[in-house]
Amino acid sequence: MPERENMRPWKLQEMTYKQVRETPMDVALLPIGSTEAHNLHLPYGTDFYQVEAVSNLACERAASAGAKVVRLPGIPYGVESNLQAFKLTMHVRQATLDTLVGDLVRSLDRHGIRKLVLVNGHGGNNFQPCVRDLYGQTGVFIAVVDWWKMGQDSRETIFSKTGEHADEMETSNCLHLIPDLVHLEDADEGKVRRTRFEALNRGWAWIPRPWDRLTTQSGYGDPRQATAEKGQRFLDLIAGRLSQFLVELSESPMDGLFPYLPQPQKESDT
Ligand SMILES: [Zn+2]
Repeated sequence: MPERENMRPWKLQEMTYKQVRETPMDVALLPIGSTEAHNLHLPYGTDFYQVEAVSNLACERAASAGAKVVRLPGIPYGVESNLQAFKLTMHVRQATLDTLVGDLVRSLDRHGIRKLVLVNGHGGNNFQPCVRDLYGQTGVFIAVVDWWKMGQDSRETIFSKTGEHADEMETSNCLHLIPDLVHLEDADEGKVRRTRFEALNRGWAWIPRPWDRLTTQSGYGDPRQATAEKGQRFLDLIAGRLSQFLVELSESPMDGLFPYLPQPQKESDT
């Protein structure tokens, strides 16, 4: 049988040692998702499917533009303490994720890969304290990206309804990426309750929201106007922005001022 060419020479789990040894790599990507209920119509892997797709699309484009990227196998679990009431939502403590991320960062450091992008796919995960803590402990520069925030400025032009979870945006993405796993006819309309406290409703007091009391069927936001075409537009925009970041990261030398430009800003630029 002829040897099948690896079409994704940036996806570590599909690469051989021979390929890895011969491929220059500067920037690693680590997708991190969750396993949780997503209304009645989307699969439990929704966050992980999306974050993997965004990472793959961005790596594909960045690699074809010459960036030396490698996509690490992702982490399919996330912090779910506030969704635990929903059957088989799998909660992993942030401290556990941080330990895993720290170990992976030290592995990258050992192998001379000094730039890492954590692509987070779940709102309950928070890697900033971990990355702040790791700063200075290894030679690896780490950037954290909550992927859905990259398209925040275009959400209202693409989608008619806003939401937070299994909403029109996530449902559109899934209709584009994994249409066979979407059961839109089962969708709850995703209405949520307000709290009885103005401080919480205005957002200046924060709580981990008890999702089973906040929502009716775990969804937050009306998904019923979702289309595959909207998902494709949104993901395309995000993949373009993330791939541009990867290209710039790959090209940038880690000199003494990295990640800053040599000259301080002029006042007129601020
Ligand atoms: Zn989600």
